Amino acid sequence: MRVLVVEDEANLAAAVARGLRAEGFDVDVAGDGVTGLQRALSGGHAAIVLDIMLPGRSGYDVLRELRAREVWTPVLMLTAKDGEYDIADALDLGADDYLTKPFPFVVLVARLRALARRGAPERPARLTVADLVLDPAAHKAWRGDTEVALTAREFALLAHLMQRAGDAVPKSELLTNVWDENFAGDPNIVEVYIGYLRRKIDVPFGRKSIETVRGVGYRIDAAGG
Ligand code: CA
Repeated sequence: MRVLVVEDEANLAAAVARGLRAEGFDVDVAGDGVTGLQRALSGGHAAIVLDIMLPGRSGYDVLRELRAREVWTPVLMLTAKDGEYDIADALDLGADDYLTKPFPFVVLVARLRALARRGAPERPARLTVADLVLDPAAHKAWRGDTEVALTAREFALLAHLMQRAGDAVPKSELLTNVWDENFAGDPNIVEVYIGYLRRKIDVPFGRKSIETVRGVGYRIDAAGG
């Protein structure tokens, strides 16, 4: 199994490459974004480990370019805690997983194996409910002809409701799928985000497509509200 490691910190890149080889991976290493992109485009990798802060082109640039060219090799991004960017940005751009530096090597190996097993995802299909359209691959949303800018979380929430259009979707299901399986925060977060969504996809268009189902959760009207 061949993987590509794009990392400019030479010591870290060497240690990761050495460790992965010991685990039976074939490893290509690139030390900057330009080389990394070239290697990634040449294909043949089961997964890519991509640092964000790179000379040449940033990891974000590389990822955006790959997805724009419809290269769907799974990407695990390496983020720094104090980085200029955050995890939401990485996931927004189509990263499949991320690790924050410093990370335990065994975790990297486990995540890479999981990504490689999963393989490159098919380009996900567009979701349509009445005149509301979501393109998960491009991360774009439209109400009629108007493009609506959504954050990663809003996008995921709307996508889940649209996949279940017409159904009353329990709040707990939304928490598990859109937030985290072990979400321990305030469950009212769902309500807050439903409010954000309504202000973006309904209110400006005089619509009421997201209904509150008392005591249960939320439903997106299959007819579009
Ligand atoms: Ca770096």
